[in-house]
Amino acid sequence: MNMQQKRFFLSENEIPTQWYNIQADMVNKPLPPLNPKTKKPMKPEDLFPLFSEEASRQELDQEHAWIDIPEEVRDLYKNYRSTPLVRAYGLEKALGTPAHIYFKNESVSPVGSHKLNSALPQAYYCKKQGVTNVTTETGAGQWGCALSYSAKVFGLEAAVYQVKISYNQKPYRRLVMQTYGAQVTPSPSMSTRAGKDILTHDPNNQGSLGTAISEAVELAMTTPEKCKYTLGSVMSHVSLHQTIIGLEAEKQMEMAGEYPDIVIGCFGGGSNFAGISFPFMRHNILEGKKTRFIAAEPASCPKLTHGVFQYDFGDVAGYTPLLPMFTLGHNFMPANIHAGGLRYHGAGVIVSQLLKDGYMEAEDIRQTEMFKAGILFSRAEGIIPAPESCHAIASAIRHANICKETGEEKVILFNLTGHGLMDMSAYDQYLSGSIQDFEVNEEDVKRNIDALEKIL
Ligand SMILES: *Cc1c(COP(=O)(O)O)cnc(C)c1O
Repeated sequence: MNMQQKRFFLSENEIPTQWYNIQADMVNKPLPPLNPKTKKPMKPEDLFPLFSEEASRQELDQEHAWIDIPEEVRDLYKNYRSTPLVRAYGLEKALGTPAHIYFKNESVSPVGSHKLNSALPQAYYCKKQGVTNVTTETGAGQWGCALSYSAKVFGLEAAVYQVKISYNQKPYRRLVMQTYGAQVTPSPSMSTRAGKDILTHDPNNQGSLGTAISEAVELAMTTPEKCKYTLGSVMSHVSLHQTIIGLEAEKQMEMAGEYPDIVIGCFGGGSNFAGISFPFMRHNILEGKKTRFIAAEPASCPKLTHGVFQYDFGDVAGYTPLLPMFTLGHNFMPANIHAGGLRYHGAGVIVSQLLKDGYMEAEDIRQTEMFKAGILFSRAEGIIPAPESCHAIASAIRHANICKETGEEKVILFNLTGHGLMDMSAYDQYLSGSIQDFEVNEEDVKRNIDALEKIL
């Protein structure tokens, strides 16, 4: 073991050749998605109109623990993978903790976040089956950027519905998407029925991920043979693709001569958390290891710590399949926090089942704590993290501080999902002291959740 080594890399031939499908090893499998109209369990074929066939099969695959990464996708992964595993000596020193802190730096991808890990295979599978167009929604824009680039490299046209408030307030990511050649529409728009319905009731509606999903799904369903819908989070196939993060980290931790006691990921819909956690969690499931897995979610959108486990829609209009998940209710409108990528009412079905079964934990984190953590991290390690990623950093700091009290040398691994260089106006607000903490109103949550009873 080299005590001084800062970063750990894999050579190109050591990049994993397969993703890990935790569904195959889970004791209690996730419940099936239900058709929103008939309420019957859905098979992969039922998802074909919406998603590529391969993504649909992966979504419901509870059999194969290992799934080959297509050579074309692995070649494109080489543009930025392996991502470095970094020992955060600077942060450890700043905290004065005996804990060993590591982070996986996904911010080095060309689009600045982990989202590319799933955008590439999703675009590839569409291309392979002869689809010409892809569509999606994006909030802060990270997923839209990843999909726009992936569509272009595989010769597809991309139409992105961007939440209106982000479209107007954050023009740079929109420009990145347009630079890659995507068509970007602010949502709600008058180009779909779902958008028209919303705008005629509420002309000033600033949009949400839910409304943008409804518009993108509607567009895909209009010409299902030519146009597929893609998602950057929540779905099980997205989590599958993201396991490249944890599989690399597993090998890199071995190079560092350590194994994590605690693995932490920030939590929007669950894909990066799944990605860094599942490869390690398989040793908990199969060999009884005792690693802790912690999902760090915003206090203003706390589906894991304050939601309920039940079937709910993925979107506001009720087009998506019903999914068994931890949810705040699909009509829940989170406060307009700066971590746009974490403003989603639900959680993926796999992580939901794993939380229910006690394989993982969740913590909620307020905006001021997460910015404070992000600033400490940037001054100690030089990287300015995305506000989303700051939630994972804040949780890592909490646990490193516990180690300081107990004197334990725990090994903490967290996922740095993206850089914050496009989020500097958020940092500006924090530095000038105008950041507010939002917490959910328990009555709002209860009202939304009670409304869910009517779905089933
Ligand atoms: C989208 C995003 C997230 C949250 O999504 P998950 O599916 O929960 O991983 C976190 N960090 C960044 C930088 C993102 O772009």
